[in-house]
Amino acid sequence: MNKINLSCLFFIITISFYAQRIVDKEGAIVRSDTLKKNIYLCFTGHDHAEGFENVISVLNKQKVKGSFFLTGDFVRSNENLVKELSKSGHFVGAHSDKHLLYCDWIKRDSLLHSEKRIKEDILQNLNALKKLEICPKHFMPPYEWYNKKVVEIALQLNQITVNFSSGTRSNADYTTPEMPNYISSNDILKSIYSYLSLNSMNGFHLLIHPGTSPKRKDKFYLRLDELINKLKKEGYQFSKF
Ligand SMILES: [Zn+2]
Repeated sequence: MNKINLSCLFFIITISFYAQRIVDKEGAIVRSDTLKKNIYLCFTGHDHAEGFENVISVLNKQKVKGSFFLTGDFVRSNENLVKELSKSGHFVGAHSDKHLLYCDWIKRDSLLHSEKRIKEDILQNLNALKKLEICPKHFMPPYEWYNKKVVEIALQLNQITVNFSSGTRSNADYTTPEMPNYISSNDILKSIYSYLSLNSMNGFHLLIHPGTSPKRKDKFYLRLDELINKLKKEGYQFSKF
């Protein structure tokens, strides 16, 4: 192997070592496997479950596995559904036991609960999953809002903190018409397609809420099939944690 080829090889090894994940300034993984054309469909669940059956049947039909982050409250109220998700090969992970807001929306470095309380909250969520023989390694914080301390507490429980990738409006699918930041499902879909036309979505964590307030009639999860078709057409495959 000549010198140029060798340096190319080192370059490729370096790139593949460092470029696979994007970690944000708080320490959470916000994008995975950026070298692969894989999208991570992420779903969170706490107090609404009405869209889960629809989401599961679309994923089955499309032969796609998703990553579900569920609170302890959700797990205890929907044990059969959660067992079924895990048995079908979807990832099931923790999302706080009681869906507590861990840190201040504005002063992000301020915790709103003691470290002990936060640790207990994650642990109780993990215990609810353990009861169903589910032992995940990845955790998505409640409200997708956390700081370095939360990431560290989760790590003490062997949990790697992950969050959704920014760039699309998919995470605003929980909004209801009276909210100032309300966005229709058409506009959410447009935001994803416009991102897709300009950027790579390799390793993108795309967050969708399978259960939302009854005040939102225009459910984005009903567009999941259409969205997966479009992403497949663009050459993307799907991965899970
Ligand atoms: Zn949540």
